[in-house]
Amino acid sequence: MALKFTDMDLIAPLQQALQATGYTTPTPIQEQAIPVILSGQDLLGIAQTGTGKTAAFCLPIIQILHGRPLRREPRCPRALILTPTRELAIQIHKSLVTYGHFVPQKYAVIFGGVGQGNQVRDLAQGTDVLVATPGRLLDLIQQKYLRLDKVEIFVLDEADRMLDMGFLRDIKKILPLLHGRRHNLFFSATMPSEIQGLSSSILKNPAKIEVTPPATTVEKIAQTVMFVEKKEKLNLLVHLLKDHDLNKVIVFVEMKFFANKVVEKLQANGISAAAIHGNKSQGARQRALEDFSLDRTRVLVATDIASRGIDIDGISHVINFELPNVAENYVHRIGRTARAGSVGDAISFCTSEEKSYLANIEKVTKQQIAVNVDHPYHSESAARSSVMSVGKAKAQIEGQRRSPPARRGGPRRPSGGGNRSRFSRPSRG
Ligand code: AMP
Repeated sequence: MALKFTDMDLIAPLQQALQATGYTTPTPIQEQAIPVILSGQDLLGIAQTGTGKTAAFCLPIIQILHGRPLRREPRCPRALILTPTRELAIQIHKSLVTYGHFVPQKYAVIFGGVGQGNQVRDLAQGTDVLVATPGRLLDLIQQKYLRLDKVEIFVLDEADRMLDMGFLRDIKKILPLLHGRRHNLFFSATMPSEIQGLSSSILKNPAKIEVTPPATTVEKIAQTVMFVEKKEKLNLLVHLLKDHDLNKVIVFVEMKFFANKVVEKLQANGISAAAIHGNKSQGARQRALEDFSLDRTRVLVATDIASRGIDIDGISHVINFELPNVAENYVHRIGRTARAGSVGDAISFCTSEEKSYLANIEKVTKQQIAVNVDHPYHSESAARSSVMSVGKAKAQIEGQRRSPPARRGGPRRPSGGGNRSRFSRPSRG
């Protein structure tokens, strides 16, 4: 029999809040992490968004603080959750408010890109748990609106994303400001060596818990790949969106500037679209998300980083305009569709260079992705090209991004490109 939240050592106000949200069964990371955190041990959690990790740390933090004498002081949070993006910060804060509804605690969230007035006011009133992005946190500390020496529990969330986004230096500035004797929780989807190093500098004798996103998510998604030349990808996208079954679509691109270009092309073709990426203002990102969520915009064009933590139901299709070179990101992206038991569709555009990423994705997901040749931009040369090493593919793809597109005769392309043939069968190389 599956463990229920009611079987766990969680206090009544948390049980009540869980009941109100309708959650009955803990996810694997919740089942494993909650008892460890409640016991006071440090934790290394290898898990990504979608596994239920937010509740896995929010629930025990609320319970631990609730069991200690209330010492809420202005400007001195008792727990700090550091997370890389504004969207994640907002979502974690929302979870705290939900799960902590029946305890007398206060939760605040601070992030950059908006005025600091309300955030400063919240801090001055005192907060039990503070959710923060690193830049704004340091900023408000410098202005003396905030101190970290009373932090009893410290969470570093999405550590590998922090590294990707260049926040490692900020984190190293923040660590010495924290109280030496504290409870540390460290979460990362992957453990590259720098993150390994950071985790061992923070954690003392941690329990290690590793979970992967449920494989069933991927199995419920109809995945296809379309071989296409890079220069035809925009046309292929517009072509696909003529089909109105694609009614709520996330398009993933790798580069921020390119997200805007895709939006312009779609809008020029009468398709409502908006972009979210790190260069957009906080207000613009929130608006774009809300419009998409309420079906006022049909297509959301996103980068991986900006899309982290976004939880929107009813997404009909995920389109990988470019394939990610990290297979876990692919799994994470396509998991946006097929939420809450529904089925979903994921379509990936693939050039000859990206075939190497595709091969890696198929290896990691242990699934072969079906090829769809039934579209006017099918590239037989991409379909037939051999799979190059990931290193070579990466170098070529990044080289193409750096070199500006040629005005005449199309973009520069590596050898091996060619024309479509209507007669040959695709090969997977
Ligand atoms: P997270 O990985 O924390 O971003 O959570 C992913 C999604 O799962 C969010 O929409 C949560 O609200 C939801 N969720 C978290 N825990 C549970 C649970 N035990 N049962 C059902 N849904 C959950």
